[in-house]
Amino acid sequence: MLLKKNNEMISSKSPSQILNVVLISLYDLGHQPLSIASAAALLKEYNCNIEIIELSNLKIAKESIKNAELILLSVPMHTAARMAVKLVPELRKINSDAHISIFGLYALHLQDALDERIIDSAISGEFESSLKVLVEELLTNQKEDDRSINSWISPKISFERQIFLTPSRENLPPLEQYAKMSINNSEKLTGYIETSHGCAHSCPHCPVTAVYQGKFRIVDKKSILKDVDNLIKIGAEHFTFGDPDFFNAPKHSLDIASSIKKKYPHITFDATIKVEHILEHKDLIKKLKDMGFLFIISAFESTNNHVLNKLEKGHLFNDMQLAIDICKSSNLIIKPTWIPFTPWMQFSDYPVLINFIIKNDLMNLISPVQYGIRLLIPKLSTLVSQLNEDGISITYSKEKLTYEWDHLDPNVDILFEEITNLINKDINTEELSTNFFDDIYNLVQSKTNNSMLPYQIINHETVGSTEDWYCCAEPTNRQILSVDSILN
Ligand code: SF4
Repeated sequence: MLLKKNNEMISSKSPSQILNVVLISLYDLGHQPLSIASAAALLKEYNCNIEIIELSNLKIAKESIKNAELILLSVPMHTAARMAVKLVPELRKINSDAHISIFGLYALHLQDALDERIIDSAISGEFESSLKVLVEELLTNQKEDDRSINSWISPKISFERQIFLTPSRENLPPLEQYAKMSINNSEKLTGYIETSHGCAHSCPHCPVTAVYQGKFRIVDKKSILKDVDNLIKIGAEHFTFGDPDFFNAPKHSLDIASSIKKKYPHITFDATIKVEHILEHKDLIKKLKDMGFLFIISAFESTNNHVLNKLEKGHLFNDMQLAIDICKSSNLIIKPTWIPFTPWMQFSDYPVLINFIIKNDLMNLISPVQYGIRLLIPKLSTLVSQLNEDGISITYSKEKLTYEWDHLDPNVDILFEEITNLINKDINTEELSTNFFDDIYNLVQSKTNNSMLPYQIINHETVGSTEDWYCCAEPTNRQILSVDSILN
């Protein structure tokens, strides 16, 4: 159903008793999408006819889109949200009557798309309760004045505690079609699960903060373990815990990992843990190694303490070294992630970053995209007022769903462009370039009067997802173009 700006109905078709729903997964870092499987479980409770479509299969699914009464697009991250905004007008051309809803963490940032009626609703946070309301309204074909239409004019965010259903993965493509865990030269089929949603911390740049505002919700153990059983049946050999931070509730998350390990001793894991938590729970790091964690990811972000304070990370430069040392002493690999380009960085931070990577022999553990991450500032970010106070001019781009900013030192932006070109060159070769770090190193050295440490890769171990991307990265042109061409 499409609504005019004044909420007057343009058209109202009578949904059948059984609702036809199309669930579209746009981009989930290559994971088999948990959000889609969770939504499917809820929709099954309402006996909906569900079709799940991966972006790459949209073209062949035009008939299903035509017949849908509800089209749901999952936007767990920035890249997916950018793709959704591009795709929805194309879906409208195929089916102008369907209610088109966007759900997931980034749905919060789609107020413009709601105002312009590009989409009909946006659901964020613990999405299930709002999705239930939406489905019930569509199913009962409530009259215009009975329906809580006004409640859909802004994104709905819920933190409601809920009874979790076991995600329904039957209609999803097999794990073989998704990203795998790559360890040196071997690959493992990978399941993506979460033991919690949200985060106890409130880093102002983080999309989780915008939605959960320092709160988190535990996912019920029973539903996770059932999901794990189902994933093992379809071949999962490794599990990625996608919690924003695995140590927000370490007792709960470790209990789940240990239950999985007990039942399936061959399984391995990875998770994301912030520096502050590594230092706080250093005794648990050894435990992770013993439980079969191959590595942990940790958001180091910057080598500049001023930037770390602006981002309220709760750690400083020296803490990052301590975190590495703690992991090393437990023989657990740590893969730092970075936001090297922020409005508060100094040009001289970049060689410090490269030297830190060299000193800790992290060259093989940091994916190319990490070297060029530029701070994204979504519309509702609390950083907006901070940047205004700091005299940094920012302009909101509706298309890019972020404020754009120039660094006060033009050399920083030139460096950013050059690094981005190297990353794009690396992506376009479609195989990991062995020369990538050389290229970065030579570029930075040429600009910094030889202040760089000499380097030699000692640790040749590589481990990580075969989808080497990052949730807070700007999409590449190729990712955006894939949406343009998909329905034509
Ligand atoms: S950056 Fe990490 S620690 Fe900070 S709010 Fe986001 S998820 Fe939590």
